[in-house]
Amino acid sequence: MIQAPKGTFDVLPEDAARRELLEGHARKILGAAGYRRIETPTFEATELFARGVGEATDIVQKEMYTFDDGAGRSLTLRPEGTAPICRAYIEHGMHKLPQPVKLWYLGRYYRAEAPQRGRYRQFSQVGAEAIGSATPETDAELIVLLADLLEAGGVRRTRLHLSSLGTPETRAEYRAELVAYLRAHESLLSDEVATRIDLSPLRAFDATDAGTREVMQAAPKLLDRLAAEDAQHFAAVRALLDDAGVSYELDPTLVRGLDYYTRTVFEFASDALGAQSGVGGGGRYDRLIEQLDGPPTPASGWAAGIERILLAAGAPPPAAELVDLFVALASPDGRRTAFELSRAARRAGLQAQQELGNRSLKGQLRHADRIGARYVAIVGDGASKGVAGGAAGLVSLKNMESGEQRDTTADEVIPTILRGIRP
Ligand code: ATP
Ligand code: MG
Repeated sequence: MIQAPKGTFDVLPEDAARRELLEGHARKILGAAGYRRIETPTFEATELFARGVGEATDIVQKEMYTFDDGAGRSLTLRPEGTAPICRAYIEHGMHKLPQPVKLWYLGRYYRAEAPQRGRYRQFSQVGAEAIGSATPETDAELIVLLADLLEAGGVRRTRLHLSSLGTPETRAEYRAELVAYLRAHESLLSDEVATRIDLSPLRAFDATDAGTREVMQAAPKLLDRLAAEDAQHFAAVRALLDDAGVSYELDPTLVRGLDYYTRTVFEFASDALGAQSGVGGGGRYDRLIEQLDGPPTPASGWAAGIERILLAAGAPPPAAELVDLFVALASPDGRRTAFELSRAARRAGLQAQQELGNRSLKGQLRHADRIGARYVAIVGDGASKGVAGGAAGLVSLKNMESGEQRDTTADEVIPTILRGIRP
């Protein structure tokens, strides 16, 4: 038996309804702030991600689905959305438009990871990018929009982690300082931290052993090393969030997957999730467009995982759509009337279905009841009533709520239902 590939899943109709609802929230919340939808291809030149995400990142090192297109070009299934959107911004000369260019997206992304709850090989992200603005308001607006989306999506127990990364130069200097500090206190660190001082000094902040924790209390923090302008930018973002009543935790160890983040970085986590607690995050990436051979262009954005939002929300699927009318067939004579009637009903704005199987009339009524139909029109019943020629136009209309049933004509069915459901 062939099964869905490891790390993928089918979106069954009940799940699809929840996803559509969430997409509607995104369209409304982001649309209201002037963000416009963009779609980019599912695969891109591999080089875009190597340069746009960063050669040294986990994504590029380990998580990409890369293949040859058969003509010697290397392509990669997109692992994230920001680099492709920056490519599109450059390719379509969007720097000539009024800035910032505000875009949002929702689509499938691919990462070769070990599958587990909340971590898949094909997953969906919704994201927003504001390209061409350097102001702290842009960062704060983006954060507030994601907070609103998570709230609308019903995500429970969220925490916002916030930090600033300054510039890559500040970061490099800080890293050297931290490495030197860890070296000077090496004998007090856990073996695990001590052996990784050069590889990932920041991880020392996450250590749980008493010795390392003690050392890290007094360790230099990147936030204390920011250049004056970067520190001012960060203070402005924080003030805006404070005014907006958005609470956050300063997290000096927050590192984001992309190499080109500058200044503001943030991540929303939910305690309703297990180990994979990150729901969405992002930050400012002022160097990225230039890195991709575009004009120097400041930018900021975020991406959130649809599956994790739904997991963290744990909400039941939305109620199924009501069915206004089910057209049942008493005899094959009624086929054309049934077909026409259900189509006319849909064109009149009703939710209408017709019998598509060969059920007995009793079976059809049971089915209509099961799908929650408010009215059932029984057609093809003329012959049994002794009406000449089978009377294609004669219909028996049953109100499923009251149980009342009466004979009418096909022409009268739709007006009667419209009066009944919208009195
Ligand atoms: P993580 O730390 O969980 O690996 P990440 O830092 O790689 O997350 P981002 O690249 O920032 O994640 O992607 C934004 C969001 O996309 C994440 O917060 C998460 O909700 C979602 N996401 C990332 N990778 C996956 C995946 N493999 N499966 C499902 N959702 C994912
Ligand atoms: Mg990851």
